[in-house]
Parts: sequence; structure tokens; C-alpha cells
Amino acid sequence: MPLVQMSSLLSKADTENYGVGAFSVGNMEMIMGAIRAAEEVNSPLIIQIAQARLPYSPLHMIGPMMISAAEKARVPVAVHFDHGLDVDVIGQALDLGFTSVMIDASHLPIDQNIEEVGKVKELADRYGASVEAEVGQLGVDESGIETLGNFYSDPYEVKKLYEKTNVDAIALSIGNAHGLYKKEPKLNFQLLNETKKLVSLPLVLHGGSGISQEDFRKAISLGIRKVNIATANFMSVEQEARNYCKDTKRDYFNLSSRMEKGMYLNVLKHIRIFQSMGKA
Ligand SMILES: [Zn+2]
Repeated sequence: MPLVQMSSLLSKADTENYGVGAFSVGNMEMIMGAIRAAEEVNSPLIIQIAQARLPYSPLHMIGPMMISAAEKARVPVAVHFDHGLDVDVIGQALDLGFTSVMIDASHLPIDQNIEEVGKVKELADRYGASVEAEVGQLGVDESGIETLGNFYSDPYEVKKLYEKTNVDAIALSIGNAHGLYKKEPKLNFQLLNETKKLVSLPLVLHGGSGISQEDFRKAISLGIRKVNIATANFMSVEQEARNYCKDTKRDYFNLSSRMEKGMYLNVLKHIRIFQSMGKA
């Protein structure tokens, strides 16, 4: 099964009412673990890396590895550039073969956001790649540190951005946050419902690490089609590595396998929650 466009995965999910997990990766083991989980239960998959992670995983190295893994996978895999901040870097991802890109201009007033998204849409169209935008701001940015304050998405701004840019997916701020939640997240389902009534495109939920299974399923029933999982992956990989290091006999290769397993377990868990098994 080849590397695919994100839009094709999301439109099938929209028709059949399930969610597709978009899992952040940082190294080879994480890519391998994600693909093994998706293949095992025959699920579509999105693997992604955010621009903020590139100091740890340079794009010119991790990008080709993600693309190659997707091309050889037995399930459809989209390779996504998450939270693109500069058109130049987004262009580098497209040159490498990423099949979708996100431009995060959600901190700007809506008209400027639309303008930035328009530039990326024009660029991505030349590659036949999908585009995700964001309306409203999450409490914590994707590096998991900075506090931005939480600004809910305005459904009419979502509609306006969609109509002006014709993007493939829009990420919302409905009480979700990046990183770990300090207290139990309370998603605003009414806002999600209002938005879905106004726009007919796949919606995206960022900050999926720590949302309950019940809330994930409710969000999916109300039109969320892409769910971003980052922090939970990194924690699961780190935890497996930590457990392994408690063993008295250890070596690099087994450590590598345990890191792959950490990703595999977390991806499998979320695929089951999002109900994308058997949808490849
Ligand atoms: Zn995000």
C-alpha cells in the first residue's frame, strides 16, 4: 500500500465515521512501532513531525525515513508536517515528499491567518499535497511548554477560513491543549457541534494525550477525523526504555526493540479507541 494523501484517509473516515490517529515520531524506532501497530490491525495511519521537533530530529534525515517507511507499509500511510511555522520549511517537507502539511497561523487575526494559509495552499497544490490549518489557540503550544492562554475557535471564523482557502482539514481549539493536562480536560462539544453544522470538512483535534476514551469517541461522533497524539508516544517510548534499563543484563539492540515496542503499544491503544481497525 503506498504513501497516500491525508485527504483521502480523512474523507473515508468521514464517510464511515471513525477517527485516524496522527502520531508524532522522533526516530526510527517510533516510525517502525507505529507502522507495525497499524499493519497488525489493518488501520490507516498518519505519521507526523512538528517543526518544533526538528532540532532533535532533522527534517532532511527523519523526513526520508518517514516517506520510505510509508511507501513500504502494508496499510495506507500519510506523512504529515505538523505545526509548520515558516513557508520555507513547509516547502522543504513538500520537496521531500510529505503528503500533507499544516500551517499554524492561529495566533494571527483571522484575515491574516487566511492569508498565510492561502500561501501554503497554493504551494501544496503544486505537489498535490493536503493542507491543514488551525483556528483558535490551544492553551499550550506544541513544544508543551509555553502558555498561550486558551482561545476557543469561533465557528464562523472556521467557516470563513474554509470558504476562502478550501483546505482539507481544520484544527479546532475546544478545550484541548498540547502536552500533559494539568487537570482533566473539558471538551466543549457544543462548540464542536456548532462548527460541524457550518462546515463539511474533516476536523482535527490536537492535544490528544490525556483525553478520555469516552471523550475521544464523542468528539469523533461529532466530526473529529484526525486526532494528534504526540506526548503520549514520547512518554510510552521513554517508559519502555526506562523499564528495560532496570534489567541487569542489557544491550543497545534490545533497548532499541523496547523503544519500538513503547510506540507500538501506544499507537495500537489509540487505533482501537479511534475505531480505525480494519479500515485500511
Ligand atoms: Zn498541535
